[in-house]
Amino acid sequence: MTTLPRTLYRNAKIFTAAGPAEAEAMLIEGERLAFVGSEAETLRMAGQAVPAAVVDLGGAFVLPGFIDAHTHIVMMGQTMQKVALRDAANLEEIQLRLKEAAAANPEAPRILGTSWLFSAIPGGAPTAAMIDAVVPDRPVYLDANDLHSMWVNTAALAEMGIDKDTPDTLGGRILRDPETGEATGLLEETAMHEYAWPKLASMTTDEQRDEHLAAAFEHYLSTGVTSGIDMALVEDELGAMRRALARGNGTLPLRVNAHWLVAPTGNHEENLAQVARAAELAREVNSPWLRVIGIKIIADGVIDGCTAAMKEPYADGSNAELIWQPEFLNPVVAAADAEGLQVAIHAIGDLASEVALDALEYANEVNGPRDRRHRIEHMETVTAESIQRLARLGVVASMQPVHADPAVQENWRAMLGDDRVDRAYPWTEFTDAGATLALGSDAPTAPHQPLPNMFVATTRKSALDASLPANLPKYALDLADALSHATRDAAYSCRREAELGTLATGMLADFVVLDTDPFDAGLDSLLTASVALTVVGGEVWYRG
Ligand SMILES: [Zn+2]
Repeated sequence: MTTLPRTLYRNAKIFTAAGPAEAEAMLIEGERLAFVGSEAETLRMAGQAVPAAVVDLGGAFVLPGFIDAHTHIVMMGQTMQKVALRDAANLEEIQLRLKEAAAANPEAPRILGTSWLFSAIPGGAPTAAMIDAVVPDRPVYLDANDLHSMWVNTAALAEMGIDKDTPDTLGGRILRDPETGEATGLLEETAMHEYAWPKLASMTTDEQRDEHLAAAFEHYLSTGVTSGIDMALVEDELGAMRRALARGNGTLPLRVNAHWLVAPTGNHEENLAQVARAAELAREVNSPWLRVIGIKIIADGVIDGCTAAMKEPYADGSNAELIWQPEFLNPVVAAADAEGLQVAIHAIGDLASEVALDALEYANEVNGPRDRRHRIEHMETVTAESIQRLARLGVVASMQPVHADPAVQENWRAMLGDDRVDRAYPWTEFTDAGATLALGSDAPTAPHQPLPNMFVATTRKSALDASLPANLPKYALDLADALSHATRDAAYSCRREAELGTLATGMLADFVVLDTDPFDAGLDSLLTASVALTVVGGEVWYRG
């Protein structure tokens, strides 16, 4: 008779996310919860057969491991490894951090940084010389906070081959000295996409991608995330995940469910070939730790850049074209649906979500009834009619509370400029309509930590700046609901609710122990609470 390792976790306040039931103890056998219940019942269960190791949690708060319902895992890990500049208040501080990073990594061929703010730089005008002053010997690339421009030094300009004869790009700009025409060190929009990003990607090795993935896993585990739904997996990233799986003898530190990115080609055959690749991967990559479960389609852009497709124009009279016209979208969605793949459609503008629903309804019609779990991502502006229709079609609403943080709303609201801003990110309209709401972070476009995300979800206040007023508090979620949308419903959104997302007998033992009970300590405590323990598949992966 083989004996599974058994551990009894007792003396806890357990939020199970499975109905109103609260529990006090859990008995873990191997990777699963052999029993969850009251202290007395669980002790009785543990008393039988092999004695269990006992962990007294001292009354701590326990909840299911967070499942980030929308993330970009390898990209997030890469961002975590860059020099963080969001809280660098002035140029001296930025320079100091770059200098320290260069000194700490003398062998690094280049220095990458992220999230600097224009407001930290004199005149809001960063120059290559400002970086050269502290790192003259190798290229430095620094992403702006909004990822819409990049600040570089002279060595980086040279590495990219940018000089005074390099042309601007369509929709982008290389900032230049008005006298000499030489680039001054800032690349805007498509100039960054076309000159900096491909250069950096071509210099990224598989070894580095492996490090990015490992960093993402580590940061997720330390903040209580035990599963992620990757929303735009591509070949390079899948390679890193497969290598990690091989190194872990078929396991990963985090459970990954992935949607394969289908990029628009303007050609039906090429579009469908990408769906076929996703279907092939769904058959091939299908373990409890790593699964390809569907496709991702990006139907429009973002409000901040006026690239989200709206039914009515933006405040400046402009509007955006859909990235996927129905003529191309519908056949791709129907083909994926016929393969049993889940379809996730990025739709931020109210027109884009209508077109996305049309495509999902079309798939229902051509392929007949089944349990689909298709989803629409973001829906930052959405009509009341679309919400009702989404609920009727059983489409999951995938939302990211952090995107509604008041600290990032000023430009967003100005771009719309009318009463549409009064129905921004209307989470409770979805749940009132009966739709399933799955919460995530969309890291690295927003911070990945789930507890501050839950703070925004439950207060509509800023996790970054406490002085700002709440953003439409009428849409705030109840704490128990928010936690359930970030665990149980995120599991539903990737079809894993039978084993993940709730703490109940028979489920996988993925859970988090916090040092604070937010139900007792109040919602503000979500900003200060920390993770004491993260357990995935019965194994302790993080100890705070
Ligand atoms: Zn995303």
